[in-house]
Amino acid sequence: MSTPAEPPAADTFRITPLSRATTGAARTLSAPLSAEITAALDASPGGEVAVRSVDVRIPLLEKNDILAERNRGFFLGRGLVALNLVSSPGAGKTTLLERTLDELGPRLRCAVLVGDLETDNDGRRLRRPHASVAQITTGTTCHLDASMVARGVEALDLEGVRLLFIENVGNLVCPASFDLGEQVRVVLLSTTEGEDKPLKYPPIFKSAHVVVLTKIDVADALGFDCAAAVANIRRIAPQARLIQLSARTGEGFDEWRALLETLAAGRPAGATDDRGGA
Ligand code: MG
Ligand code: ZN
Repeated sequence: MSTPAEPPAADTFRITPLSRATTGAARTLSAPLSAEITAALDASPGGEVAVRSVDVRIPLLEKNDILAERNRGFFLGRGLVALNLVSSPGAGKTTLLERTLDELGPRLRCAVLVGDLETDNDGRRLRRPHASVAQITTGTTCHLDASMVARGVEALDLEGVRLLFIENVGNLVCPASFDLGEQVRVVLLSTTEGEDKPLKYPPIFKSAHVVVLTKIDVADALGFDCAAAVANIRRIAPQARLIQLSARTGEGFDEWRALLETLAAGRPAGATDDRGGA
């Protein structure tokens, strides 16, 4: 039995609305699970919920999956596309979102949830008059989970929003296991990292719909072998759409923007739904 990597989720995270906080009636997305669902969980085969298990990740993930499905239904019902952005710390998630909000935001309404252990620095970087932004500070938890997203969404003004970006905590490991209810999972790899990151952290890359290779403007200066990185991504994540860009110079950004416009229009994005398939 492996040692559980995560302690049971404590309700210690905080939500900080930063721009265009909701003015509408409070939603109940994060309300406690109904008695019916709780009873169903208790009666689940093997008693995964009630049993004292050595591996606490099993019941934790089951509850997360239920909450994630509720989030997904909520997003679909609102007609918005939720994207979960995952990468190592410093790969450029926030920078990518800054340019995305600047280029797309004025004509395509976007909202952002940003996750970090502490500080609302990234959330404040993303504040725009046309975007609703809230920061989730997770305390000691090294990933976002579906309950945090449900709570965070309640702080957002989703009126007319077509794209909801969820910037996960910088971490390539456990975000792979926590479905947030997103329709599209975007994994970033930057040229400041090793070309072999996909080989070292396959689960997250296998779960990606889109892989974005970022900071390509500095690849040559860093001696980063883009061809090797691309080969590794293709090998581990053949199901994913691969986009290479620099959010700083704008190189390759057209393809990212076109993908988002396609998603917002409700057309197939080109990536298959078969996560992890070969
Ligand atoms: Mg960030
Ligand atoms: Zn974690």
